[in-house]
Amino acid sequence: MRQVIIVGSGPAGYTAAIYAARANLHPLLIASSVEAGGELMKTTEVENYPGFADGIQGPELMMAMQAQAERFGTEIVLDDVTNLELDGEVKRVTLGNGDVHEALTVIFATGSAYRKLGLADEERLSGHGVSWCATCDGFFFRQKTIAVVGGGDSAMEEATFLTRFAEKVYVVHRKDSLRASKAMQDRAFNDPKIEFLWNKEVAHIYGDDLVTGIGVVDTVDGTESTIDLSGLFIAIGADPRTHLVHGQLDLNADGTIAVDGRSSRTNIAGVFAAGDVIDPTYRQAVTAAGSGTVAALDAEHYLAALPKELLASAESQPATV
Ligand code: NDP
Repeated sequence: MRQVIIVGSGPAGYTAAIYAARANLHPLLIASSVEAGGELMKTTEVENYPGFADGIQGPELMMAMQAQAERFGTEIVLDDVTNLELDGEVKRVTLGNGDVHEALTVIFATGSAYRKLGLADEERLSGHGVSWCATCDGFFFRQKTIAVVGGGDSAMEEATFLTRFAEKVYVVHRKDSLRASKAMQDRAFNDPKIEFLWNKEVAHIYGDDLVTGIGVVDTVDGTESTIDLSGLFIAIGADPRTHLVHGQLDLNADGTIAVDGRSSRTNIAGVFAAGDVIDPTYRQAVTAAGSGTVAALDAEHYLAALPKELLASAESQPATV
């Protein structure tokens, strides 16, 4: 049995692991079978993570966090959690390969998942012109006309990045002003390849095998129009990934996991949550990292108060350095 199992491998999960490992709790971190490293693995330049004056690539940052967590003795498993049993003193975590791990505490840091438009052809044309990841798929749209949906920082970042490849990038936004930060807005406004389509909602995605166009509806006067293009990048935010804990952990109205005040404590003793899965507002790599720190410290305090016999049944190996 473990003292700590961490579910999730974004900035919150890895930072919780770094702190838990340095506290000699020898954490096991479940990092997912396909998306280890979280959303930053799909990002390009990260310019606002403190300590990197010249910026750092998202994947590079995540690999450095992983290396730091491993340096202090974190064990990482690349698999998906399929079931969590969180009630009781001993928590049980089941993985895709059938392994069941037990722990006295669980830190849940599963982040958030990209939102979908909810259109009929969105799934069908996913990977055939519809994408949620400019860094993954931008290369396929050299000299093409494409569109990005959304008005937040993600949409501005994707649109700006995609101008490296595409001939023309429309930004389709349902309002007449952006939610994105001023700096990101200015960068997009000043890019000659980007054209904004204000007050427009995507109502259709056209194409048999590949995307050939979109149908948009004006949110003010209801008029419809068609735009010929070969790629549609959807950047309309993300929702907390909580399906594993439904019915066990209390959620807020916005879908995030409810925690006690500024702590990471959930409604179940010994279960802590950190990062985007508890944060509908800030959702930055650095705030997630801070949240992971809080969770590791909360877990450490919780463990310290447990009966010695129970603690003795959980392994505690020395850190590797
Ligand atoms: P946001 O929630 O900030 O923005 C989502 C955007 O998509 C909004 O403009 C919203 O419109 C629009 N939208 C939502 N649902 C729909 C829908 N169904 N149809 C059409 N449009 C829709 O998400 P982001 O992913 O942009 O950003 C999330 C967080 O990550 C933010 O805190 C952001 O600052 C941060 N971030 C920071 C970056 C950086 O600093 N480098 C890069 C990327 C993200 P409306 O405005 O009308 O609600």
